[in-house]
Amino acid sequence: MASTASTVSRRALLAAGAAALSAQGRKPNVILIYADDLGYGDLGCYGSKLRTPNLDRMAAEGMRFTNFLSANPVCSPSRAALLTGRYPTRVGVPKVLFPRDTAGLPDGETTIAQMLKPQGYKSMCVGKWHLGHHPAYLPPARGFDEYYGIPYSNDMIPPVVLHAVPGKVETVEAAATLETLTPRYTDQAVRFLERSKDDPFFLYMPHTYPHIPLAASPRFKGKSPHGLYGDVIEELDWSVGEILGAVKKLGLDRNTLVLFSSDNGPWFQGSPGGLRGRKGTTYEGGVREPFLARMPGPIPAGKVCHGLASTMDVLPTVGKLCGATLPGQPLDGIDIWPLLSARQPRLERELLLYFDDIYLQCARLDHYKLHVARYNSAAYSPAPAGGRKNLPLARPELYDLRTDPEEGYDIAPENPEIVARIRDRIEKLMTGFPENIRQAHRQTAAQLTTGAVGAHPRVPN
Ligand code: MG
Repeated sequence: MASTASTVSRRALLAAGAAALSAQGRKPNVILIYADDLGYGDLGCYGSKLRTPNLDRMAAEGMRFTNFLSANPVCSPSRAALLTGRYPTRVGVPKVLFPRDTAGLPDGETTIAQMLKPQGYKSMCVGKWHLGHHPAYLPPARGFDEYYGIPYSNDMIPPVVLHAVPGKVETVEAAATLETLTPRYTDQAVRFLERSKDDPFFLYMPHTYPHIPLAASPRFKGKSPHGLYGDVIEELDWSVGEILGAVKKLGLDRNTLVLFSSDNGPWFQGSPGGLRGRKGTTYEGGVREPFLARMPGPIPAGKVCHGLASTMDVLPTVGKLCGATLPGQPLDGIDIWPLLSARQPRLERELLLYFDDIYLQCARLDHYKLHVARYNSAAYSPAPAGGRKNLPLARPELYDLRTDPEEGYDIAPENPEIVARIRDRIEKLMTGFPENIRQAHRQTAAQLTTGAVGAHPRVPN
């Protein structure tokens, strides 16, 4: 009986997580570290041979997720979803933004930084923004007090480094010295933590790497047995160690939620951890990501969560934890504090939809995943004659990710009722999306009825 009482008491303590923190008179700090194109299998704690001792320790001191999905398999849309808690197809950023683009995340959307601002949070974004590089779309226009970094991908020309505060944008480097980016990002982040230690703060640190072109500083270059990619990951891991070390040194360890993930799966190098697909596909390898959460006390140490969660859950979870008012727009993410506090192993939730660009391709119901459409060519490969097209599958494919994480065995024929239930729910959900997304969905389906396509294109892994 004693152990039961102890368990109940511990659960009650965890359940009171957010309230207890507020009661201490200090709102929790939030640090969100976001890698770029990091694979599900690229960290030691996810089975990689790459050396990531700091991230492995972060996982051991907190919680590691095995079913955490990015809302999109490429850079800009993933970030739009992360910062708004909504599908990128809902917020108007369904595809990657380029330096030639003049727009970004629309003004009507509320970011995590904007949500936290009325609560007295100081916020800084350090790294790759990629939600609009013109002043009206940079972080200081979206709730952040300061920004430092390359505002888009490092393969986009020119890879300019900007420093921005509200009303002022200055160019730090017209063409970035890519080798020293990670230590400079780290230095900027640590200095922000030091000068913000007396206020609640939100640090959003979207790293530039391991997006190509890869580069590492002299301290790490050539040191990994796994080539430059390994060097880059080891330097990212070092950076996480510096951030966690700074938090501890400032005495903020138990009042700071630190989250780590990535925007999409690995590109030309890196490991999807045995999952099918890579960046640019809606197979799991394109969107399933490492997700680590650490907050000693409220988040128990050494736990692994297999419950389904999404990058879109970060905003509602952080908002609830910090006592903020959630944005007025309907959210697609949910508060996953019951998972983070280990009160529940999984949560009941709506279907999770997988979009590529404006196209709905898959849907996830707990461990079941239904594929309904797919491109007729592999991403980042030459387009076939007639152009790259999103095509409906003549017969949707159903995979049980619990027993078949590689999406190798279609069980749709044996489970028509599950297929029908997911398809029905997809159609109901799609009615809530903007007209251009609904239209793309209708047009995809129409290709099937006209018989204009073979309808079962295969994309190589
Ligand atoms: Mg990316």
